[in-house]
Amino acid sequence: MAGRLAGKTALVTSAAQGIGRATVLAMVAEGATVVATDINEAALASLANENAAITTHKLDVTNQADVDAIAAKAGTPDVLFNCSGYVHAGTIMDVVDKDWDFAFELNVRAHYRMMRAFTPGWLAKASNTGKASVINMASLASSVKGVPNRFLYGTSKAAVIGMTKAMAADFLNKGIRVNAICPGTVDTPSLHDRMRATGDYEAAHKAFIGRQPMGRLGTAAEIAALVVYLASDESGFITGQAINIDGGWSV
Ligand code: NAD
Repeated sequence: MAGRLAGKTALVTSAAQGIGRATVLAMVAEGATVVATDINEAALASLANENAAITTHKLDVTNQADVDAIAAKAGTPDVLFNCSGYVHAGTIMDVVDKDWDFAFELNVRAHYRMMRAFTPGWLAKASNTGKASVINMASLASSVKGVPNRFLYGTSKAAVIGMTKAMAADFLNKGIRVNAICPGTVDTPSLHDRMRATGDYEAAHKAFIGRQPMGRLGTAAEIAALVVYLASDESGFITGQAINIDGGWSV
C-alpha cells in the first residue's frame, strides 16, 4: 500500500481510545502495519475490526512482564508511539505518595520500559539511519508551561521531555530518532471524564475551551497527524524535540 508509512511497522500504547486510537487509524491510512495495545481489551476489540493492518494485544504498560511479552511477540517495530498517561488534578497539597508513584509509573516509566525493550532490536538493525522513530506523549502542561492544578501531571510530563532528549542524544548517530509531543487540551473520552469529575460538567467544559486561545479544543485526529509526520521519513532531520501542538496556548 502506498502512503507515508508504507512498509513500516508501528506499535502504539494506550491505543483503545482518544489520541492513541486516532493515531492507529491515521497510521494504517498511511500504509503502516500497526500493533495496537491497551490495558482495556474490550475497547481494543472494536479497533481490530477497523482495518486488517491492525493487530491488537492487551498490554499493561506498568507491568514489566507484559512489556517483555509484547516485545517478544511484536519483533522490532520501526515506530513506537508511547501514548500512555493519566491526569491527576490538584496542587502539591493534594499529592499523596500513591498518586506520585502511579503518575510516574504510567506517564514516565512506561515510556522508559517500552524504549528499553526495543532498543537492543533497533541497534541490531543493519542500517545506520532510519532504524526507528519513537514518539513519546508529553503535554503542554510540563516543562513547557505551568498549568494551575496540574502539579503532579506537569511534573511527570516534564520528565518525559527530559527522557526524550536524553534518549535522542544517546542515539543521534545510530538511526534512532526520539521526539516528544506536547498537546494542549484535546477532545478525548478522558477529558470528558475529567469534566464530569468536577461535578459541574458545563462549567468545566467552558473552562477547558476558555483556556484554549482559538476558542476550541484540539481533535485527536489533529494530534495523530503530527505523530504520523514524526513517524515518517519526512521528519528524518528532527530528533530530541518537544513539539507543541496546542492551538496557540503557549504563544
Ligand atoms: P484517554 O485518557 O482517553 O485514554 C487513555 C487510554 O489509556 C485508555 O484506552 C486506557 O484504557 C489506557 N490505559 C490506562 N491505563 C493503562 C495501562 N496501565 N496500560 C496501557 N494502557 C492503559 O486518552 P487521551 O486523552 O487521548 O490521552 C492520551 C495521552 O495523551 C495521555 O498520555 C495524556 O496525558 C496525553 N494528553 C492528553 C491531552 C488531552 O487533552 N486529552 C492533552 C495532552 C496530553
